[in-house]
Amino acid sequence: MSNYDVIIIGGGPSGLMASIAAAERGAAVLLVDKGAKLGRKLGISGGGRCNVTNVKETSELIAHIPGNGRFLYSAFDHFNNLDIINFFEELGIALKEEDNGRMFPVSDKASSVVSALVSKVRSLGVQIITDSPVQEVLYGDGRVEGVLLSSGKKLTAGAAVIATGGKSVPQTGSTGDGYPWAIAAGHTITELFPTEVPIVSREEWIKAGELQGLSLRDVTLTVWNPKGKKVISHRGDMIFTHFGLSGPIALRCSQFLRQVQRKTGTDTVELSIDLFPDLNQQEVESQLQGKLDLEPKKAIRNSLKGLLPERLIPLLLDKAGLSGDTTGHQLPRSGQQAIAALLKRMPVHVHGTRSLAEAFVTGGGVNLKEIDPKTMESKLMQGLYFCGEVLDIHGYTGGYNITAAFSTGYTAGKHAALQRDQ
Ligand SMILES: Cc1cc2nc3c(=O)[nH]c(=O)nc-3n(C[C@H](O)[C@H](O)[C@H](O)COP(=O)(O)OP(=O)(O)OC[C@H]3O[C@@H](n4cnc5c(N)ncnc54)[C@H](O)[C@@H]3O)c2cc1C
Repeated sequence: MSNYDVIIIGGGPSGLMASIAAAERGAAVLLVDKGAKLGRKLGISGGGRCNVTNVKETSELIAHIPGNGRFLYSAFDHFNNLDIINFFEELGIALKEEDNGRMFPVSDKASSVVSALVSKVRSLGVQIITDSPVQEVLYGDGRVEGVLLSSGKKLTAGAAVIATGGKSVPQTGSTGDGYPWAIAAGHTITELFPTEVPIVSREEWIKAGELQGLSLRDVTLTVWNPKGKKVISHRGDMIFTHFGLSGPIALRCSQFLRQVQRKTGTDTVELSIDLFPDLNQQEVESQLQGKLDLEPKKAIRNSLKGLLPERLIPLLLDKAGLSGDTTGHQLPRSGQQAIAALLKRMPVHVHGTRSLAEAFVTGGGVNLKEIDPKTMESKLMQGLYFCGEVLDIHGYTGGYNITAAFSTGYTAGKHAALQRDQ
């Protein structure tokens, strides 16, 4: 006689939703977490306001999950972003839409989302054990038998859901514990890497902190391969830091820079900033000329003010090989063209990213070829399910990872509960 029908390991968004879906189907469910509190990472997501989901259409959601988003089509059939919105509204958590379809609680408090989820889990009779790390998932005869807690206690169940998250921000409890249990069941783990992570550059002007703290609004950041081919562009905001680049579009580009490094074996990757994404180079040059013609006797370092952030001017002139003392009248056509070209494509050479521990999201994880996308069950071990960031799925920040966690969690919990009837 088993202690439980389903044991869910990990109380992040995926594990909490798996607990709810399993308990709603009448299963006897245990949720175990090693931390004192559930939903710690969820509690700091979206700047502490909890970006519960994104309201975009399915194809758009998938496009914003560059790490195997297509695997999620079946899970979205079970529980998608609109179901997440209804779910929270039924729990009394009113949501509001912000820029780019991001959904937040009206309270702006992640804690309200976490407590509503935990209350729902409790109301369904799920037993919750906190401060109890699972040490091992127990297998026998090709199926799950239960789990071993680090206290030495064994708990039996016909199904286990591994919802232990990735390896990023380990102080929230996500320390990669699920990977060895997957390997013990015969699974492979694709290479783990930091995604949605700040970018590191060894450019002298970055190291000297020349632009540290400067934010650029509504620019385009592009990653180039060594052959000069565009890999990806993202438009939005970014910031220069003491080590490189951060902010939304730098985070989005981070995984692609790593991709270029891996594919080509190169250490240095060229990124470029387009300060005028709505204009072509010709139009930028015309604007520049208009400005210089207005004040032909003025030094260009002063004329350029108003066209671009003041702190960028010395760097831009240096890259163009021009003296800031040159007047508009003295500046030859080739000088104007050089400035316009840099305003459209200012190069920043970058050399890597910050660590996995500092990343918002872990790339790589349990190999999806070994998981049934309709149920989230392992194809190798009966009764073993995976959900959330432990899987080889990663999206941009903006609610996409949390949506993937809720959706795969719901699917895993539902099918783990149904399997006890088989
Ligand atoms: C600062 C920050 C901001 C973010 N903002 C966004 C955002 O705006 N939009 C977005 O989509 N995503 C965002 N993310 C990512 C998102 O929070 C995660 O993708 C999501 O929380 C993953 O959910 P999960 O359930 O898979 O795992 P986690 O939330 O990592 O939860 C895993 C749980 O498993 C428990 N656990 C681990 N090992 C064991 C064990 N051995 N025994 C028992 N329990 C264990 C942990 O204690 C933890 O509670 C952000 C992440 C960070 C760090």
